[in-house]
Amino acid sequence: MGRLRLFALLTAAPLVLGAAPAQEPTLAGFTEASSRAERGWEARFRAMPDPAKLQEYMKRLSARPHHVGSPYDKDNAEWILARFKEWGLDAHIETFDVLFPTPKERRVEMVAPTKFVAELKEPPLAGDPTSNQTAEQLPTYNAYSVDGDVTGPLVYVNYGVPDDYERLQRFGVSVKGAIVIARYGHSWRGIKPKVAAEHGALGCIIYSDPRDDGYFGGGTFPDGPFRPAQGVQRGSVMDTQYVGDPLTPGVGATKDAKRLALKDVTVITKIPVLPISYGDAAPLLKALDGPMAPPEWRGALPFAYHVGPGATRVHLVVKSNWDMKPLYDVIARIPGAADPDEWVIRGNHHDAWVNGAQDPISGQVALLEEARAFGDLLKQGWRPKRTIVYCAWDGEEPGLLGSTEWVETHAGELAAHAVAYLNSDSNSRGYLQMSGSHSLEAFYNEVARDVPDPESGLSVWKRLKLRRIENAKTGEERKELRRESDLRIGALGFGSDYTAFLDFVGVPCLSVGFGGEGEGGTYHSIYDDFYWYTHFADTTFVYGRALAQTTGTAVMRLADAELLPFGFGNLADTVRRYLDELQKLLAEERDEAVERNLEIEEGVFAATCDPRAPTFAPPAEDAPPHINFAPLENAADALTRAAKRYDRAVAAARGEGGSILARDGIAAVNAALLGADRALLDPEGLPGRPWFKNLLYAAGAYTGYGAKTVPIVREAIEQRRWSEAEAGAVRTGKVLDAAAAAIERAASTLEALAAPPRG
Ligand SMILES: [Zn+2]
Repeated sequence: MGRLRLFALLTAAPLVLGAAPAQEPTLAGFTEASSRAERGWEARFRAMPDPAKLQEYMKRLSARPHHVGSPYDKDNAEWILARFKEWGLDAHIETFDVLFPTPKERRVEMVAPTKFVAELKEPPLAGDPTSNQTAEQLPTYNAYSVDGDVTGPLVYVNYGVPDDYERLQRFGVSVKGAIVIARYGHSWRGIKPKVAAEHGALGCIIYSDPRDDGYFGGGTFPDGPFRPAQGVQRGSVMDTQYVGDPLTPGVGATKDAKRLALKDVTVITKIPVLPISYGDAAPLLKALDGPMAPPEWRGALPFAYHVGPGATRVHLVVKSNWDMKPLYDVIARIPGAADPDEWVIRGNHHDAWVNGAQDPISGQVALLEEARAFGDLLKQGWRPKRTIVYCAWDGEEPGLLGSTEWVETHAGELAAHAVAYLNSDSNSRGYLQMSGSHSLEAFYNEVARDVPDPESGLSVWKRLKLRRIENAKTGEERKELRRESDLRIGALGFGSDYTAFLDFVGVPCLSVGFGGEGEGGTYHSIYDDFYWYTHFADTTFVYGRALAQTTGTAVMRLADAELLPFGFGNLADTVRRYLDELQKLLAEERDEAVERNLEIEEGVFAATCDPRAPTFAPPAEDAPPHINFAPLENAADALTRAAKRYDRAVAAARGEGGSILARDGIAAVNAALLGADRALLDPEGLPGRPWFKNLLYAAGAYTGYGAKTVPIVREAIEQRRWSEAEAGAVRTGKVLDAAAAAIERAASTLEALAAPPRG
């Protein structure tokens, strides 16, 4: 526990005891009276989400394929709109026009030493009633692959991440002029063709290995939940210099938007890429010779994995229809009674690759139940203080299109009005997955303590805490978990629709969902459908209910609190941890380079080379220089000081039943609070990726989905660009200083409000 956390606990404890029943502490940001009222409304709310309704919505929304541009995508948007209206919400559809390629020609064939033509087809399965909607299904492909027709020797590159190519170099294998075959996993899929092209490959095939996604995990569909031999993972491979419509970076894709010409778009892959099943991959991999793949590269197919290249040659053809398609974002609003200009925003996408029962409908149905329940609460007299905005996004799958275009269109308003954005996507059985902005970490913990887990009867918070104790790798980790403190939340990368809110506008975000007990393998295939979900996933929809309860409670609490329930002790503590990680990372790089150079000098690599399976010494490397982390150290100190001051101001304001929080002047404190997360943006953005403006949280340029925190410094160290790391420490220090200044402003405004009148 950081000293900051301890401080927060000590100051909070007497207040907790002073409040009415011990198990119902006064909610952060509320007065004692308003907290009691809030808890009353929330209890009513949490009784409303109904598993039977969740199932009924899923059946309807996943009945037919509903990808971007399909008839049922529009039909679903109109159906969602009608529900919002039926429940009394003020709703409309907002439309955009985006570039969305669909397959025209696809071919993968082995031309030597033997002939084999890949199926590239997912067969309908008897008993699964929607798997035969062949005419409406999008064929298996990777959207935004460049068109191409290439032939070359085949090389297996494991997951196709940069480290894998270093390993290939040690085998003396080059992919120049070759077609690579990579397995899905360990990076966002778009990284694989990007890194392959950087190494001179002509084409890229991505397959699902049964070790990661298939029978190694359990029985395959339809007997079990795991990916069958012909199941294929579709998905976007757009490069991540920016997200959203490729033709309109930074601005909304409205009718009259200025668009790039297709030839000027830089986010389309440099080489053609196509995904295949393990049924189709097996003959290709089996035909490879060359060095044996290292043990950790071997999958679960029943033959020896070789790296290649050899006599195996592959012909790959990818051609798309490069058409414009409409997007239908459904936006509903509940106007705030007291502070209509502060918006709490909640979203989940509605488009899928095919039927998409799990991704995204399992999350969308929870969002709908929240909206229905809010409609009921409004009839019963509930009036949220702030405006609540509910969003069903289109076009998430191709590249977060619907949410990004909406955010870019409304960026100015959002910068002025958005309090927080809460996202969900796929949902299943198991544990609460907690990630988001650390200014909301304490708040997220508070919410999770109040939601019951449907299986254990514990709160979802307690169950997750015990799970983390079970999974902890060290005694130190367990010790930290057992202390009475908040559970840490993960940072956000770019896995879903929060990205534009977080990285383009600086809105604090939470990502909510359950998982860990409903495993399987139908992701982005025709088998992610109602039959699969109701046989193998959250079959009773009780975790769908828990998702609605968790997210809905968070939305209500953010919308109703007098003082926005942001906390900065956890943020300061997290920044301090990131700084420690960066220093450790640099030290490790130094140790590794020194050790490697020593081994080269000693002749270790030459001596251990087996002449029958030769390997090559890696190149010598300069050890990293020392880097000045002082701007980050000073900024972390400033954040810690500001957070402590703000905590003291809040503790003081919570005296006497917290009546100070009900004063008019609290609006100025809230306005100052919104400045803290906005301050994390730098208009210049990340090096080479100016669209991404958040200097604390980003997705990695070479890892994708996973978050890179303090991205400029971390990526520069990983990629050995030392002067960029140093400059990044200065720039990141500046935004953290600006965040600290915003927190100081909020603290001083609150102190002034709480100060006894002079005279
Ligand atoms: Zn999704």
